[in-house]
Amino acid sequence: MTEGKKHGISRRTLLKAAMTAAVSAGLGSSVHARTGTGGAVAALIDISRCDGCPDRKTPACIQACREKNLRHVPEPVDPLPEVFPRGKTEDFSDRKHLTGRLTPYNYLFIHKAEVEHDGKRWSLNIPRRCMHCDNPACATICPFAANHKHKTGAVVIDSEVCFGGAKCRTVCPWNIPQRQSGVGIYLQIAPTLAGNGVMFKCDLCHDRLLEGKNPVCVDACPRNALLSGPRDVIHAEALRRADRMGGHLYGREENGGTATLYVSPVPFEKIDAAIDKGPGRPHMAPVERRMAKTDSLGNSVLLSPAIGLTAGVLAVAGALKGRKNGSPEEEQKK
Ligand code: SF4
Ligand code: SF4
Ligand code: SF4
Repeated sequence: MTEGKKHGISRRTLLKAAMTAAVSAGLGSSVHARTGTGGAVAALIDISRCDGCPDRKTPACIQACREKNLRHVPEPVDPLPEVFPRGKTEDFSDRKHLTGRLTPYNYLFIHKAEVEHDGKRWSLNIPRRCMHCDNPACATICPFAANHKHKTGAVVIDSEVCFGGAKCRTVCPWNIPQRQSGVGIYLQIAPTLAGNGVMFKCDLCHDRLLEGKNPVCVDACPRNALLSGPRDVIHAEALRRADRMGGHLYGREENGGTATLYVSPVPFEKIDAAIDKGPGRPHMAPVERRMAKTDSLGNSVLLSPAIGLTAGVLAVAGALKGRKNGSPEEEQKK
């Protein structure tokens, strides 16, 4: 596995950011235009089948995800730029090995729960990652339109355009996206004023979905605890399994519906009460749809010329001045 590939930010990326920011400033509907559900894929996570891969140091699904994704997170600059006037840096680059929570280097983890139910003791293993919501507030609110719901069903953050302001995490009901400071385009544009890094999360292996393939975590699971397929097929299968085991579903109604359905023999209220929650370890409580509450906030941000145009102008200015495609590290030495 190759970790921490270093790379600079090209003029093409700067122009892309400028264009995106300009669109964000003037056309908030661009986010909605990209949102689509036709031909969408959904995923089923069957908690009754996942055993947490007890014979492996790292569960197979997590290992597959890390092998695919870890190399795409660049090394941060050293030292990290101080953030002005407020905000804080977040640096997981010395904790890349963590697999027990979500981090910028780990998009999937296994939540453990010991639960009493129906007179039985259940030791549950629950794979956790982005839910890929049908109405993702994280995408609507992004001031730089760096986050999109695709027709595959995947919600994908474009790391070349993300400024790491973390609004997506704030509005996510599960606080899923994770920030790595000291990487990304903000270093080239306004390292102390704008953003804070890049937000990272599961992208549902969007590139593989476009090729008609399964996410790598799905293919890696030895117990078929993870499935993916056409949305209607997955929904029907989730209902069938829940009915067969007298079980429960999570993700079908949460946040107005998602592309991830959990099926469990134990009620999710009990699971939520039993799991360890905190940063990078999301809850499993019921979630009302947040989109409606964030629409007005999201649109006001999307339409904010102060944010969008400032970034656009700065990006264009930087590109036209012919800033070299040097590495972020080189930029920091100037
Ligand atoms: S989902 Fe599959 S691969 Fe992942 S921990 Fe569970 S059994 Fe192992
Ligand atoms: S779970 Fe959070 S990060 Fe993922 S799509 Fe939904 S709102 Fe966005
Ligand atoms: S769908 Fe892809 S990115 Fe998401 S957890 Fe699975 S392997 Fe990782």
